[in-house]
Amino acid sequence: MNPDLRSFITLLSQNAPEDILTIREPLSLRYEPTACVLELARKGKHPLVIFENLKEALFPVVTNVFGARRRYALAFGTTEDRIMDEWLSRSQRVIPPASVKEAPIKDCVRLGGEVDLHKLPVLTHFQEDAGPYITSGIAVAKDPDTGVRNASFHRCQIKDKNTMGISLHSRRHLWDYQRRSEAKGKNLEVAVVIGCHPLILFGTGLWKGPIDADEYYVAGGFLGEALEVVQCETVDLDVPARAEIIIEGEILAGVREDEGPFGEFTGYSSYNSTRHVLKVKAITHRRDAIFQDIVPGLSQEHNSMLAVPAEPRMLEVLRRVVPSVKDVAYPFSGACRFHCYVSMKKIAEGQPKTAVFAAFSEDTSLKLVLVVDDDIDVHNEEEVIWAMATRMQADRGVFVIPGCMGAMLDPSANEGFTAKMGIDATRPLVGWKATRCTVPDNLRGRVRKILEK
Ligand code: MN
Repeated sequence: MNPDLRSFITLLSQNAPEDILTIREPLSLRYEPTACVLELARKGKHPLVIFENLKEALFPVVTNVFGARRRYALAFGTTEDRIMDEWLSRSQRVIPPASVKEAPIKDCVRLGGEVDLHKLPVLTHFQEDAGPYITSGIAVAKDPDTGVRNASFHRCQIKDKNTMGISLHSRRHLWDYQRRSEAKGKNLEVAVVIGCHPLILFGTGLWKGPIDADEYYVAGGFLGEALEVVQCETVDLDVPARAEIIIEGEILAGVREDEGPFGEFTGYSSYNSTRHVLKVKAITHRRDAIFQDIVPGLSQEHNSMLAVPAEPRMLEVLRRVVPSVKDVAYPFSGACRFHCYVSMKKIAEGQPKTAVFAAFSEDTSLKLVLVVDDDIDVHNEEEVIWAMATRMQADRGVFVIPGCMGAMLDPSANEGFTAKMGIDATRPLVGWKATRCTVPDNLRGRVRKILEK
C-alpha cells in the first residue's frame, strides 16, 4: 500500500511532534491561515500547520508541509545533507504504475449538479489575490498525440461552483498538450490531485524531465514501489488511489477568461496568466479528507519547492562540465529562482566562468551565478557573501551578458528579457597570500565539553 499524506503526518508526529502546530481557533479562510504561517516564519519557526476549525470548512486544512528541509529529509527517510543524493538516485529509476479497483479516493463521489467547489476549504492567501486559490493541485493530463501522462503544479482560482481559472504560464508540457488539443478543436481532460505523500509530489509536480517521460513512472521511482492509481469517474485518466481530493474536468478549447492576480514566488502579486478555464465534472474525496494548501508568495514552502529539485539537477549539469564542482544552492534571498551559488575546487583558471555559462544555459530563470571555492558552504549565505567581499575584484570577477531570455515573472525583466551576471569569487591559483584564521580542530570537542558545563 502506497504511503499517503496522512501517513506522512503520522510519521512526523512520531518523529518530531514539536514540528506540527495544530490550531483549533476558528479562523477565516481569508488571509488568516497565511498570516499565521508568515508570522511563524518571521520568528524563525517553520512547522507543518494543521487548521482544524476554519470557518465554513468541512475539512481540516494542512499547510506548510514543505516549509522546512528537514521534512523533505523525513519523506526520503534520510538526513538533510543527503536530500540531493536521494533526489538524484530516485529520479533515475522508473517504476510503472499499478491500477487498483478500489480506492479511498472514491469514498465520496460528487457528480453533475452535486459538484460544488465552494464546499472545499480553499484559502484566499493575500489581499491582492483575485480570490481563493488551490495551490497544491497537481494537474494530470494525457498527451493528445502519444497518451503519455503529465502531472504538474498549476494554480487554480475558484470562480463558481464548477468553474476554475487555471494558468499554464510556465509554458511546459500541460501548456503544450492543451495547445495541440485545442488545435483539433478539443477540450483537454484533466484531473487535479490534492493531498498526496510528499514522494508522489516530488515525482510528479516537482520533477522536471522531457515531454515523453510519464510522471507516474517517475513517482514510482521516488516511492520505490508502483504508484497505485484508479480510474476517474468522468474523464479518461487515472489518479493516485490514496490522494485526499480529486477534481475532474476539462480545460475548454478556445476559451480564455481573466485569472489572477496571484501572489507569486517572487513576493509580488502577478497578473501574468494564460487565462485558461477548467470546467469541473466531478469531485471525489476521502470520507475524512484533509485539504492541503501550499503557502504561496515568497514563502519558505513555495520557494523551497523551487530550490530542492533545482539544486540536484544543476549539480549534475555542472559536474558534467567541471567535475570538481562541490555543491549548489538556490538561496531564499534570490527567491530560490534567480540566484545560484556554486562551490568548486578550482583546478584551472577559467573554470568558474565555464560553470557560470553552463548554469545559465541549463536554467533560463537565473540572473546571478556566484562561484566560490570549496571551503565555502554555499548553504550559508554569510560565508558566500564574505567570500565575495574578501576574494573578488569586480573588474576581473564580474561579467554581464545582456539581452538574454529570463523568467516571465521577474518584475524587473522586460517580458522575460533580462541581463545575466556571473561572479567569480574564487581565489586566484597563483599569487594568493592570505590565510584563513583558525583554531586547532582537535580543540573543538574539548571546549564544547567545557561550555556545556
Ligand atoms: Mn511531463
